[in-house]
Amino acid sequence: MSVIVLAEHENGVFKKKVFEAVQYAAGIAQQQGTTATAVVLGEAPADALAQLGVSGATKVLHVADARLNTLSAKAYTKALAAAAEKEGAKVIVALHDVTGKAVAPRLAAKLKAGLVAGAISNPDTSNGFTIKKAVFSGKAFSYINITSDVKVITLMPNTFPVKKGDGSAAVEALDVAFDDKDFGVKVKEVNKVTGEVPLAEAELVVSGGRGMKGPENWGPLEELAHELGAGLACSRPVADSHWRPHHEHVGQTGGTIRPNLYIAVGISGAIQHLAGVNGSKTIVVINKDPEAPFFKAADYGVVGDAAEVLPRLIDAVKKFKASQN
Ligand SMILES: Cc1cc2nc3c(=O)[nH]c(=O)nc-3n(C[C@H](O)[C@H](O)[C@H](O)COP(=O)(O)OP(=O)(O)OC[C@H]3O[C@@H](n4cnc5c(N)ncnc54)[C@H](O)[C@@H]3O)c2cc1C
Repeated sequence: MSVIVLAEHENGVFKKKVFEAVQYAAGIAQQQGTTATAVVLGEAPADALAQLGVSGATKVLHVADARLNTLSAKAYTKALAAAAEKEGAKVIVALHDVTGKAVAPRLAAKLKAGLVAGAISNPDTSNGFTIKKAVFSGKAFSYINITSDVKVITLMPNTFPVKKGDGSAAVEALDVAFDDKDFGVKVKEVNKVTGEVPLAEAELVVSGGRGMKGPENWGPLEELAHELGAGLACSRPVADSHWRPHHEHVGQTGGTIRPNLYIAVGISGAIQHLAGVNGSKTIVVINKDPEAPFFKAADYGVVGDAAEVLPRLIDAVKKFKASQN
């Protein structure tokens, strides 16, 4: 019996959030007195897979079928179910991202397992198997006790800091008999955003709202993000007005992020916006209206015009960085 975790990759390259998921699974495995096995789907160089050991996986099961190079929820579910059966797994972990959201509910149904989607805590096993998650757009927490024998969990990325050890995992091939009908959805094209800090990965995020007045004023936000090594986000009206691309939109109908620092400039702080960002560890709000609701959710606030505050903030960041060299 082991804990298994889906480790997504691109040609054997794993993002930080994957190491976080593996570390989370390894923690549960330790709690249960067992080991963690990572499941890698699609083609990848075998030597790249052993590195998942640094986050505590002792074994990697590799289903190297090229048809798994892009997400097929049905086939991924079948592969994970096969891995779970092989390992006798009672706990299966995936990330609460596009892949995890597509696969985990199907897997839970297939294995008759209880599911917690968007976990933000380790399981509390003092009285059952209880996991915390945010509900009502982050306004409240729910503590869910999974009582089924098999349990499926999707972990909210950026919940835990990633610590890497020096372990190495044993890599083993796993054959799964797929049917053509497992690949009913064909991915024709994948367009990736390049050259930016991906939002889901970003530890620091600089975000702009309608208070920025127009896309021509985004320069200072981009400069601040560049100086901080931060990702860029925006409110929904900004994306709806095509001032910024839709992948930057955060909130109830956009991305959910949990960075260490979220700097919101010219954003009012509507509940639908907060739903995507209120898991941030520290929130800084810059708004010219002292009554803006966002100040209630902020750790630090600056009441002022973005056009005046941002240049001074960028200057201060540059001076601070120079003083560190
Ligand atoms: C079903 C539904 C889903 C939604 N989903 C989302 C979502 O996912 N994400 C999202 O963001 N919204 C979402 N919304 C919209 C949400 O309700 C708000 O309308 C939106 O978040 C407001 O965006 P904003 O704060 O950028 O703009 P505004 O509400 O117009 O606020 C602009 C702010 O900028 C400040 N400001 C103006 N000028 C300056 C200046 N010069 N310097 C500094 N500050 C200035 C103003 O004081 C104001 O607080 C949703 C709404 C609905 C109904």
